[in-house]
Amino acid sequence: MTATETAVRTVKFYTNGNWEEPQGCALHPITNPATGQVIAQVPYATADDVDRAARAAHAAFLKWREVPVVERVQVFYRYKDLLEKHTPEIARILSSENGKTLEDSLGSVRRGIQMVEVACGMPSLMMGQSLENVSRGIDCQSIRQPVGVCAGITPFNFPAMVPMWMFPFAIACGNTFILKPSEKVPLTPTRTAELLHDAGLPAGVYNLLHGGREAVDALLAHPLVRAISFVGSSPVAKYVYQTAAAHGKRVQALGGAKNHLVVMPDADIPKSVEAIMGSAFGAAGERCLAGSVLVAVSESAPLLEALLHKVRGLRVGDGAEPGIEMGPLVTAEHRARVLGYIEKGVAEGAQLLVDGRERAADHDGGFFVGPTVFDGVQPGMTIAREEIFGPVLSVIHVKDLDEAIRLVNRSAFGNTTSIFTSDGKSAREYASRVEVGMVGVNIGVAAPMAFFPFSGWKNSFYGDLHAHGRDAIAFYTDQKVIMSRWF
Ligand code: NAD
Repeated sequence: MTATETAVRTVKFYTNGNWEEPQGCALHPITNPATGQVIAQVPYATADDVDRAARAAHAAFLKWREVPVVERVQVFYRYKDLLEKHTPEIARILSSENGKTLEDSLGSVRRGIQMVEVACGMPSLMMGQSLENVSRGIDCQSIRQPVGVCAGITPFNFPAMVPMWMFPFAIACGNTFILKPSEKVPLTPTRTAELLHDAGLPAGVYNLLHGGREAVDALLAHPLVRAISFVGSSPVAKYVYQTAAAHGKRVQALGGAKNHLVVMPDADIPKSVEAIMGSAFGAAGERCLAGSVLVAVSESAPLLEALLHKVRGLRVGDGAEPGIEMGPLVTAEHRARVLGYIEKGVAEGAQLLVDGRERAADHDGGFFVGPTVFDGVQPGMTIAREEIFGPVLSVIHVKDLDEAIRLVNRSAFGNTTSIFTSDGKSAREYASRVEVGMVGVNIGVAAPMAFFPFSGWKNSFYGDLHAHGRDAIAFYTDQKVIMSRWF
């Protein structure tokens, strides 16, 4: 790093209720993706840091599990209030390190707050069941108890919301928590942790470490960590699932995606195009629910004409500025990866209708790629199969709904898909037959609300119980069945 870069703030760890200056850790720069400027530096936790956090979390667990659930959720009522007051500030921090537009950041913080709201219902959600007289004079009840220290490992694209898929549920259930967010975006989780501290959470119940593989490996192997929640790319999700399971932990590991948007000839073109634009180019395509393949069923000329008109007019720039519809990609490396996919699409013979590389050159310093559209894409091409995680939309033409379903079901991923149609029968058949966990009908980004599970299939998810909704309560608790007879 240069002398000016070292003058920036160093992010801290938060363990046992204290903000700690990291000792002897490697430091890595955090850049504003819109300008390329270094805005902070992040320490990478070592196995010793993880051990310290796990011990603190375990000591805190022994006390926290004894706190009645109605008292535990009071912290989250206060936290919700603080998050609401600070939403614009959190969104600004988020945009500065991730590159999203401010509007998009605000929306994602609000989605995170909804998780906190649902976790406030834990007194009802955690209830067990009971049945009198299961045998003569014998009653039976089941109760749910917290599992212990839980850890969350999260991706760069939703640094406020995705951690909130995890820790409000885990902590309200009576567990303690260690978050290891993406090393690319440590500032947002730092601010949301400060607010959790201000909400009055006891020391050690929530802990925040930064870093990469060393910290993750230490969490996966640590004997005091009982449960691992992971969200990120599929290869790492699979690795986390296998490694944590080999260490006897329960795991939910949410992976990457390749999402198809199917447009029937009877779809409402203007409204569908609006939804497709948000799905494919919102957050610069850096969403696990981003539409990446447009499946045009039979007649497609009016659809493509309307789409290309919108794509060419999309306002690309610094997401912190008003009126901008699409910001940069998160890092220079990720930008290079997305550009590599565009080159591959051209090399494999797809027809480049809108070339985002031209718009990328407009912006000095930032990690921009303009919206990109390929036509004539064949199902076997790399851009049709692999997750690009950028603003690149591939158009595939099929003759009917049946061919569309077969195409979607051949994908290795099964996170989300949408159908655009005015025919209920087509929508119903599509929703029923696709092998995908989250389905939108005339909705471009079918993100389940906090009280439903985030239920990817195939390589988009490794585990049994999904994030948030009732699955979260099952994941973060053990069940105990008690049979009683009184003489
Ligand atoms: P990533 O897999 O690179 O990183 C995710 C987390 O894993 C980070 O905390 C990172 O530090 C850690 N990590 C990275 N490489 C590792 C390794 N080799 N060993 C151990 N830990 C490692 O993902 P990302 O680039 O931060 O996020 C984008 C990905 O996340 C995309 O694939 C996207 O689809 C996926 N995602 C999925 C969902 C979902 O709900 N399924 C939601 C958001 C993002």
